[in-house]
Amino acid sequence: MINFGGKIEVKVSKKYKDSTASEILKLTTMARDKKSKTENFITRFSKVYTPIVIIVAVLIIATFPFILRISLREALSRAFMFLVASCPCSLVISVPLSFFVGIGTCSKNGIVVKGSNFLDLLSNVETIAFDKTGTITDGVFKIIKINNVSNLKDEDILEYIGLAELMSNHHIAKSINNSISKHLDKKRVKRHVEIAGKGIVALIDEKEVTVGNKALLNEKGINVEENEDEGTTVYLAIGNKYVGNIVLSDVLKRDVEKINYHLKKKFGIKRSVLLTGDKEDVAKQVQNRLQFDEIYADLLPKDKVEIVNKLKENSKGKIAFVGDGINDSPVLASADIGISMGSGSDIAINAADLILLSNQPIKLIKAIQISKKTKRIVTENITFVLCVKIVVLLLSALGISKMWEAIFADVGVSLIAILNAFRIFKIKEKNI
Ligand code: ADP
Ligand code: MG
Repeated sequence: MINFGGKIEVKVSKKYKDSTASEILKLTTMARDKKSKTENFITRFSKVYTPIVIIVAVLIIATFPFILRISLREALSRAFMFLVASCPCSLVISVPLSFFVGIGTCSKNGIVVKGSNFLDLLSNVETIAFDKTGTITDGVFKIIKINNVSNLKDEDILEYIGLAELMSNHHIAKSINNSISKHLDKKRVKRHVEIAGKGIVALIDEKEVTVGNKALLNEKGINVEENEDEGTTVYLAIGNKYVGNIVLSDVLKRDVEKINYHLKKKFGIKRSVLLTGDKEDVAKQVQNRLQFDEIYADLLPKDKVEIVNKLKENSKGKIAFVGDGINDSPVLASADIGISMGSGSDIAINAADLILLSNQPIKLIKAIQISKKTKRIVTENITFVLCVKIVVLLLSALGISKMWEAIFADVGVSLIAILNAFRIFKIKEKNI
């Protein structure tokens, strides 16, 4: 709706710097600063290498006529051959090109990579932490039960929860509102505050309504027993009185069940972890089907950051985090490599280094496969270029090689390295 002439009254209840959004942005920015910068080895190498070869060429001209008793003309010829063979362009072109082809191959597979250094990091990932809702599961919840402990009708319980969730973008909120057929009047909601990882507090029909997990109700001093039903429970309190809960069930995403098996068996991932704001029972059900090594439940956004930082301390390899929600953005930024679902919130997509457009975590396997192949080809190219160069440089200085060999060491080697880089496009389909 666009407001052309009407009046809008806005009451500020909190300064922006105290808001959850600002807090999350702050955490995200701070975490981003902590990211390790990939050392650009080739650029640094070229900076040292180029002056050294020029000095060596000058030394050949200045000293060889005296030491080896050769003519100045012969010394000049050797120095020029040495310079031609030494040109670093095969390294300077082929290394970034290999990463470029790697990024292109990712794009072809629906994986957005925000920089070549992330492809480099991904090839060294040892531990992967996954968010649950919207990442491992579809995030499309179905209401399976209403537990009513008040005089209200079940429909009223649903209506209050639906009204409180009207303005939220959380998977739970959207799913609840999609399953309520009755029209809900937005005007009944006077105030709405969303607490990330917990739920919502709203003013509905002049009554304070709390909708969310047990922790949120307890925080407000409302006593509530843990619901034992299988599924995600959303509790409802009106005023200070707990009135009931609804139980929701979510389904696992397609092909996700074998993700840990493939990651470990075929791609050398050592540890996989599930981090969720949902309760322990739900996390355990997912654990039973997907075989995570560790699960952590009842987490707030800052708890997820703490756990990932601990994992980083205790691990030699890199840590990746895969998530989708606003609440995941600080941890996406603090992991060595953050991976977001394409359907994730804008802030999560912003904080991530890699985006899986199809929203299928199984695509992570393809991304790791491409990153490992890219890394292998980069190493092959560097080794090949350096070996050929060292041999031809020595032969040029000793006057054994011909000019064509020096040219081969420059242009020929560059072409071979470039053609080798294009092999990244040909990624074999693994049986998954
Ligand atoms: P996850 O880490 O699995 O993606 P969240 O951190 O988004 O989950 O949420 C954690 C828990 O907080 C949910 O399982 C739910 O119990 C509660 N919660 C969060 N947001 C809402 C909401 N809008 N309405 C109801 N409950 C919510
Ligand atoms: Mg999520």
